Amino acid sequence: MNIGAFALQLRYPFTMLTPTLNVTAFQQDFETLRQFGLQADGAVHRVGYSDVDMAARRWLTTRMTDLGLAVRQDAAGNTIGVYAGQEDLPAIGIGSHTDTVPYGGAFDGALGMVAALAVVEALHAANVRLRHPIELINFAAEEATMAGGTTGSQAMTGIFNMATLDKKAWDGKPVREHLTAAGLAPEAMLDAKRAKGELAAFLELHIEQSDRLESVQLPIAIVDGFVGIRRYAVSVYGVANHAGTTPMDRRDDALVKAAPFINTVRELTDEFAIVATIGDFTVYPGAPNVIPERVDLIVETRGLDANVLDQVAEVLQIETAKLGASFEAVVEKPPVQTDAVIQQALHTACKKLGLATLTMPSGAGHDAMNMSRLCPQGIFFVPSKAGISHSKEEYTTPADCLNGAQVYLEAVLALDALLD
Ligand SMILES: [Zn+2]
Repeated sequence: MNIGAFALQLRYPFTMLTPTLNVTAFQQDFETLRQFGLQADGAVHRVGYSDVDMAARRWLTTRMTDLGLAVRQDAAGNTIGVYAGQEDLPAIGIGSHTDTVPYGGAFDGALGMVAALAVVEALHAANVRLRHPIELINFAAEEATMAGGTTGSQAMTGIFNMATLDKKAWDGKPVREHLTAAGLAPEAMLDAKRAKGELAAFLELHIEQSDRLESVQLPIAIVDGFVGIRRYAVSVYGVANHAGTTPMDRRDDALVKAAPFINTVRELTDEFAIVATIGDFTVYPGAPNVIPERVDLIVETRGLDANVLDQVAEVLQIETAKLGASFEAVVEKPPVQTDAVIQQALHTACKKLGLATLTMPSGAGHDAMNMSRLCPQGIFFVPSKAGISHSKEEYTTPADCLNGAQVYLEAVLALDALLD
C-alpha cells in the first residue's frame, strides 16, 4: 500500500460510499420538528424568538452537533453549523427557517431546514467530505412577525433596520422585547453581519406556496429570480354632491372614473406577462348619499424584468393622466435574479434523478433573496397542495418532500464540483 492510498483509507476508513439520503431519519426529523408548537387542530404555532421556537432550535442544534458540526448562534439568533470540507474554501450554505406565522403550517421553512440537515447527514454517514465546507443555516424569524420578515437574514446581510426594534411585533409587544426574551442583545443585532465572500453560495429548498407545480403536475420548480415589487398611489378626483338631487348627466363621480382603470390594470397583466393588484382602495367621503369626490388606490405590480415594470409604469402614468388623476411611485423593490451556476446544479440534480422541472419566478421573498448580497444564491420549490400556505392546511406529499431532499443532496454535490 502506498502512502496516498493509506491516507485515503484513513479519510474513508472502509470504502468510499455514495452519500445516500436516510429517508427514515429525514421523515422522523420532520415529525419531531412539527411537534414543537403543534396545536390540537394541526396548526403549528412556532413564532420567531418564542420559547417554543428557541426549543426547536436547540433540538436542531443537538442534531447538528451529533453529525459533527461546529454550531454557533449569531447575534440575530441565526443558528449556523459548519460541516468541514477538504479544501480551504468558503462554505456552501444550505438551510431555511424553522419559525412559522402564528398558527401556521408544518412545511413552510421546516421542510427546507430538515432537508438541509438530511443532506449533511447523508455526507456524514458516507464519510464524505466535500471540497467546500457546508454551512447549515437556520435563519431567525423569517416570517413577518417581527414588524417585517426575514429578520435573521437581514441582520446577516447587514440590511436590518435598527428602527424595527421599537416597532410592534405580531402580538403588539415591541420587537426588542422578543429578542431580549430569547436571550439576545437587541442593540447588537448587526453583529450578525457577514462579509461578502464568506460563503461560496447559498441554496434553499422551500414549498412553493402557490399551485403552479400542482397545476402542471411537475415535482420541482427551479426559481429564476425573485420578482421586483412596485407600488403606485393613485388619486382619482371628482366632485362631491347630493346623491338624490344631482342629475346623472351633471355628475363628476370619482368612482365611476376609477372603475375602467381597474380593468385597464387587469389587461396590462396579460399584455406584459406580469401580476398586478389593486388591493387598497378607498372612496371619499364614503357616504351612500354623496357622489364620490375622490378615490385613493394603490396599484401593485410584480415582475422579474425591471424594464417591463418600467414600461408598465409608463402606461399607468398615461392612463391616470387621462383621468386627471395623480400618480406617485411609493415602493420600488428591484427584482433579484438567482445565480446561473446554482440553477445549472439544480438542473443536473433533477436530470440525474429523472425529475422534470418547471422554471418560474418566486412571487414571495425568502432568506435566499437577501443572501444575494453576500454570495450567489438559488432556491427551488416542491409543490404545495392547492397552493395553500401559512395555514394548518399547508401540505406537501411525503413523495414530494423526499424529491426535494434528494434534489438538495444531488445539487449540493453538483455545486461542490461546479464552484471554484
Ligand atoms: Zn418560508
